[in-house]
Amino acid sequence: MKWGPTIAVVLIILLAAGAFLIFTLQDEGTGASLTVLTPSSTHEVDLEEGAVPIRRIIKNTGMTYDSSTVLATTTDGDILSVGGGTEISVRDGRCLLGGDSELLGLAWGGGMEITTTMSVARTALCSLNLSAPGVPLVWTDVERVVVLELDGLGWGLYSNTNGMLNNLSGMDALMPALTAYPPITNVGTAMAVTGLPPAENGIRARSDHTLLKPTFLDVGGIEGHSTAWIEGDSGFLDADMENNVDSDGDGTIDDEIHEVVMEHLRAGTEIILGHYHSIDDAGHQSGPESAEQMDAVGNIDRYIGEVASFLENGTDPSILIVFSDHGMHEDDDGLGVHGEFRHKDMFSIVGYELLGGAEPLPEPGLIIAGDISNPVEITLEEFVELPSVEAYLVVKGSKGDEGGNYRGVELSTVMELYTSGDVVTIRLSAIDGYTVTLPGHYADEGSGVILAYEKDGEGLGDDGPIRLIVPQSLAGEYNGQECLKGVIKLEVNR
Ligand SMILES: [Zn+2]
Ligand SMILES: [Zn+2]
Repeated sequence: MKWGPTIAVVLIILLAAGAFLIFTLQDEGTGASLTVLTPSSTHEVDLEEGAVPIRRIIKNTGMTYDSSTVLATTTDGDILSVGGGTEISVRDGRCLLGGDSELLGLAWGGGMEITTTMSVARTALCSLNLSAPGVPLVWTDVERVVVLELDGLGWGLYSNTNGMLNNLSGMDALMPALTAYPPITNVGTAMAVTGLPPAENGIRARSDHTLLKPTFLDVGGIEGHSTAWIEGDSGFLDADMENNVDSDGDGTIDDEIHEVVMEHLRAGTEIILGHYHSIDDAGHQSGPESAEQMDAVGNIDRYIGEVASFLENGTDPSILIVFSDHGMHEDDDGLGVHGEFRHKDMFSIVGYELLGGAEPLPEPGLIIAGDISNPVEITLEEFVELPSVEAYLVVKGSKGDEGGNYRGVELSTVMELYTSGDVVTIRLSAIDGYTVTLPGHYADEGSGVILAYEKDGEGLGDDGPIRLIVPQSLAGEYNGQECLKGVIKLEVNR
């Protein structure tokens, strides 16, 4: 243990002045503590200075690590999907992920599938065949998207309703979803409706109202779909919303909001977002899991049932998506509050149901097109059956290094199997609309360029299902720019 020179100096001055001194021992090379959340618990883990793999941090909570998703929330408003082997370095009392990103904490499913609320906009857009900023919860093809936001319905509250919610619990999927930090309405809603973390959508605090990125309603509207965002009476984000007031004076605006949602359904509006507030209101006024809040949850569940049966009886293939912006915990007076990095606040819900004849589709693989005689579409199942290689590769971007054993198909193999002759350039496109154009020699045998589908024996999650990995030997040290995530199309240019 080393004494900090500052403490020593203060000690001498105070002693000289004859003051009575109480102090806590501090050594200079401090460790740090990191919060680890699961959908049902919050843990503080003390870490020593140095680099610690995430799987060891999770073991330090007393739980058994399995390979389920780990999400890292950073203080600059980002959320990253990380592997158990990723190292956290502790320096000067701060936990750093990669180069400079400081960690706020980790969230881990603990054997349960978890996602983030970013999947809301991503699923809405992919279901309409529009480009999305990441992979959806389900692949499908629909004509209508209805999203219902259930303010304040945390995963903890949902888990304790003991099956009284027939409509919610009967959905095709419903799972815990990490929301944005701080877990408050404008920040949580912004992440869900843009499909992007606070660092990118611009809503990072209660005082932020201007979205820097379009919502799924904006994107759908630009593409010619009819849209409606049905809200309460407050403008917590600057967006095109239809506001409602408690016109019948029964103490809640949700009946008025629900009536407008049903009107839009009947009118054929293609993309609808309805935001219900009563679960959050009841939690603040009467406490989490109070009889009043349970009543509100039951009432909202009936609204969900009404929307689902309308869509099921219609002729348009549709997807119904539900989510909450945050959960809440009990304060000292027994009332509900939220805004902290703890499981009750941070774990909300996300779920979906396919209705009106909509069907799930297989995960898309790779489309191979461009200047070739036979454009093909390979499914992901077929893709992973192609001859593959495994190599330890490092992807280095502005957020630091991500090293791992990547398994994938060499670009040269794909070219050999599906194209012939020389190419000038190869253009790859991703699900989020990003593209990279590679020089032809990247497809030479032995170049080391792969289309990866596994890292350290696991699927690529949010970075996949297929990711281009260009080794540092070709792209230079900062190869992150060229390592396109979510590759869905390869076009040859001769
Ligand atoms: Zn809220
Ligand atoms: Zn609230």
